Amino acid sequence: MQIRKSDHFQRLNIKELLGIRVEKICSEQGKVLLSNGTSLNYDGLVLATGARPSSLNIPGDDLPGVFTLRTYDDAKAIVRRCDQVSSAVTVGGGLIALKTAAALKERGVQKVTVVIKSRQILSRQLDPLSAEIVKRALEKLELQFVFGVNPIAFEGDRRRGLSEIILEDGSRLSAQLAVVGKGVTPNQELALAVGGKQNRGLLVEPFLSIGRENIFAAGDVIEVEDPITGEFTTSALWSLASVQGRVAGYNALAAMRGKPLQRYIPRLTRMNATEFNRIPVVSVGHIDAQGEDVEIFKGGPSLKSPCAHRYLVFKGPRLVGAALVGDVDQAGPYANLIIRGLPVRHYAKDLLRGNVLKTILTRLT
Ligand SMILES: Cc1cc2nc3c(=O)[nH]c(=O)nc-3n(C[C@H](O)[C@H](O)[C@H](O)COP(=O)(O)OP(=O)(O)OC[C@H]3O[C@@H](n4cnc5c(N)ncnc54)[C@H](O)[C@@H]3O)c2cc1C
Repeated sequence: MQIRKSDHFQRLNIKELLGIRVEKICSEQGKVLLSNGTSLNYDGLVLATGARPSSLNIPGDDLPGVFTLRTYDDAKAIVRRCDQVSSAVTVGGGLIALKTAAALKERGVQKVTVVIKSRQILSRQLDPLSAEIVKRALEKLELQFVFGVNPIAFEGDRRRGLSEIILEDGSRLSAQLAVVGKGVTPNQELALAVGGKQNRGLLVEPFLSIGRENIFAAGDVIEVEDPITGEFTTSALWSLASVQGRVAGYNALAAMRGKPLQRYIPRLTRMNATEFNRIPVVSVGHIDAQGEDVEIFKGGPSLKSPCAHRYLVFKGPRLVGAALVGDVDQAGPYANLIIRGLPVRHYAKDLLRGNVLKTILTRLT
């Protein structure tokens, strides 16, 4: 699967070394040791090692038939297995577990169950009612849901692979395939070994330096501040990884040449647009904001869709979060209001009706 033309890097005069890992950074010598036994010298280094799926660390999680989903190879292995099974389980209430469950059903797996520890799906992205609308849309695909429990073991044998999943309430689900989607762990070991610091992800300074000379980092491996929630978090968004990569690459070169560095300007880390069983869903910003100055406006349906629901979160005068289900036409303008932090609480009812552009044009300009 290629997203760039095969000569993309060549044209940029970038040499690709595929299938080779960096095993160690020797920062004193400005050198990285590679898995093929050779080494490379550097003047500037950008770590963009991404993240790996978090493991459940429970018995049987290495059985054939138990998967996580990160790479194209993972996807191909799941597809190969799913053609031979009648029941499957996905674990987690987030986008990966839900999208995978729907895809397995679409590929003809008879029984697909989603096991979710929390009480609703997409709890970071959606309010309970929006989540319920999405869940019902997925139930129409005949997906089943089990809430409030985690798996505690996968059972089966090495030859035939997974056969059962045991849940923490003692119940059992028969399944020959499981896909675990319980978040990711940043690949920060290389950086930590040279003195990088970690919290949820690798800590970086505003110029995306890890605090060691000429070493910068970008993408899923780092944590950054979300300008709306104020929290420091990993982002797991392609768009942010790209922007950060550009800043880190620029700064690695600028530092070498003694030029001024670029500051990374924090961007929204919570922004998702997707669809479930033909129902579009958008979630932007701080949906689960708390505090005395937080006000919620919710409503629907709209003329456009009988299952449409809007959920707007205001903190003081600012719109800080929007969840849209069924009718997402105004998603861009809502996101824009959130990012710009304009004082729009006064127009909350207009905004809830979906008159976002009109409100911006007539009242704020
Ligand atoms: C199933 C799935 C669906 C997604 N869908 C979306 C979406 O719709 N929209 C969106 O914005 N984001 C999406 N994401 C998230 C997005 O893919 C990531 O945020 C993005 O890929 C992060 O880019 P990255 O370069 O930081 O890390 P990665 O893309 O993970 O790349 C890291 C690379 O570094 C390599 N590496 C790691 N360690 C070493 C080492 N020691 N030496 C050499 N190489 C190393 C890895 O092999 C990998 O190739 C999705 C992710 C998944 C898994």
